[in-house]
Amino acid sequence: MSERFTGVFTQQEPIPEAGIEAAMAVLRHGRLHRYNTVGGEIAEAARLEEEFAAFTGAKYCLAVSSGGYAIATALRAAGVRPGDPVLTNAFTLAPVPGAIASLGAVSVFVGVSEALTIDLDDLAAKAGQARVLLLSHMRGHICDMERLMAICDAAGVRVIEDCAHTMGASWNGVPSGRHGLAAAYSTQTYKHMNSGEGGLLVTDDEDLAARAVILSGSYMLYDRHRAAPGPEAFERVKYVTPNISGRMDNLRAAILRPQLRDLAAQVERWNERYRVLEAGLRGTPGLTVIERPEAEHFVGSSFQFLLLDWPETRVAEVVARCAARGVELKWFGEAEPKGFTSRYDSWRYVEAPRMPESDRVLAGILDLRVPLTFSLDDCALIARIIAAEVGAVYQSA
Ligand SMILES: *Cc1c(COP(=O)(O)O)cnc(C)c1O
Repeated sequence: MSERFTGVFTQQEPIPEAGIEAAMAVLRHGRLHRYNTVGGEIAEAARLEEEFAAFTGAKYCLAVSSGGYAIATALRAAGVRPGDPVLTNAFTLAPVPGAIASLGAVSVFVGVSEALTIDLDDLAAKAGQARVLLLSHMRGHICDMERLMAICDAAGVRVIEDCAHTMGASWNGVPSGRHGLAAAYSTQTYKHMNSGEGGLLVTDDEDLAARAVILSGSYMLYDRHRAAPGPEAFERVKYVTPNISGRMDNLRAAILRPQLRDLAAQVERWNERYRVLEAGLRGTPGLTVIERPEAEHFVGSSFQFLLLDWPETRVAEVVARCAARGVELKWFGEAEPKGFTSRYDSWRYVEAPRMPESDRVLAGILDLRVPLTFSLDDCALIARIIAAEVGAVYQSA
């Protein structure tokens, strides 16, 4: 009888006890709003910002209501205006072009390589078309960041990084989010720290940081921040920056602070699982494993492989056969978007010419979540099931 997997791909770990206790303390005193402090109290949100700034090595950090909000705020604070073109990845998730659209700006999509990173040749070709690149480290795959920054610096393109899948990752020892002008992270349930919803923005740029704080809805209470610039920076921007409320509250911040302390250890646990999947799938005929560069310290919170140049019907067969054995694969090549899988051609509010080379890669991308509730044995079983089903469909071709 064939093996079946019975785990749940969307089940994350519970909030650590220290986070539950910290949350209970906030609930008991009732001061959930980040600017509601008494005496010399330092709000949980302000402490989280200070700690996340230290974690990434950034000068400034702002906690906000979601990752998408952090991206939009970074773009706005960087001066992106309605109608401005913004370069971004063709392979990413919907909140990325959505954040650009929320400003009335216009996405210009850059292709995806077989390494699932942004296609740097396509970027070099299109760099003259915009002043800003919103770089999404989609599914945690980090491109050659030295080459990317060289292309962007030469073209006068400023880089905002979407680190929703690279919180805790690094490239050549530089934390992800620290190459560009600013970076956004998400603390939504499916990311690397879980507060239900939430986001973080980091930057070293004083003006951008001050604008972001005011944009997020600080009123004139910005002096209660601890990872923000001094009052002079706010004097320069406070009358000309609108309040577009999107603050993080103290309850979420309280839940996140203990998770930040555990993050490095969690990253190692994700990567142990990733390596088991990788070892189990490597060598499967017809299946391409994504080779991870030496310079990349990634977070294996999800796993991708390619069924490159397979006919659609056969990929669909693999997905169905795996599903029948309890293994949920998300396929970015499917004609209609489902769940989280949409592509540049699904975002029809953007006019985007077809990108045949990217279409070829997107058609073959299969994706699975790796929650930490899976054991190493679970991952080995998942890999056996995928390898067997890919093998069976491949051989029947
Ligand atoms: C989740 C995600 C976001 C947005 O984060 P939210 O907190 O859900 O708004 C942005 N980019 C990518 C790649 C994501 O996966």
